Amino acid sequence: MTDIRHINCGTLLVPGYPTVVCHCLALIDTDEVVLVDTGIGLLDVRDPDARLGRELIDAAGFQFNTWDTAVSRLESMGVDRSRVGHIVLTHADPDHAGGLADFAGAQVHVSDEERGHVESGHPRYVQRHFEHGPRWRTYAADDNATSWFGLPARRIDLPVDAEVLIVPLPGHTLGHCGVAIAQDDGWFLHAGDAYYLRAELTDSHHPAGQLAAARADDDAKRLESLATLRRIVNDHSDEVEVCGYHDLNELPAHCVDSDKPD
Ligand SMILES: [Zn+2]
Repeated sequence: MTDIRHINCGTLLVPGYPTVVCHCLALIDTDEVVLVDTGIGLLDVRDPDARLGRELIDAAGFQFNTWDTAVSRLESMGVDRSRVGHIVLTHADPDHAGGLADFAGAQVHVSDEERGHVESGHPRYVQRHFEHGPRWRTYAADDNATSWFGLPARRIDLPVDAEVLIVPLPGHTLGHCGVAIAQDDGWFLHAGDAYYLRAELTDSHHPAGQLAAARADDDAKRLESLATLRRIVNDHSDEVEVCGYHDLNELPAHCVDSDKPD
């Protein structure tokens, strides 16, 4: 049985918006630990200006704290980083891929479209996050193709008990995907940045939607993906539990820092 643990691997104080988090998952099996997204990395914390640049730091409101990284969160759960053999990325934006270098030996599973977008040198990505040479494993539309509630999906090859799929939800980035994890009684879907705040699922005019539109590579596709997600939430709430990456209110209470360790 694969246990899903929720971990907060970063905090962003976007000017004019509520505090948002970097809600990653650790899928814990007997021997293996798989991360879904990696948050802000230790190298980012050590030298933010050189790694990310002041302009990006100020625009996105990155906060840098060693305890607010995947390595520290895993350690506090008694999990050494050496156990992380695989990482699944929803997409490769700097607040999701910053921790990749902290798990340099891990295989990094991502959609073929997203890897291509990174390789194209698109300015939204921080190329320093990939300088260590991640062990990419990419999935194109017909690789391990399957269907998930009527949506095209791709099965991820992982040495864990649970079936794990990436489900394309493009628009935020061209290769953005949700990550679906089979559970005994249904599915858990990490929707990545398909929405910033959960309220966007019920309020089409939520102000966070304006930020999402501005950050989208393809806003028409983003809105289509949001509509798809609404359908999943409305029609399959008894079978699918959904969380996003940034909404503080979707983190289980025990993951929210009431008293900062440092
Ligand atoms: Zn993000």
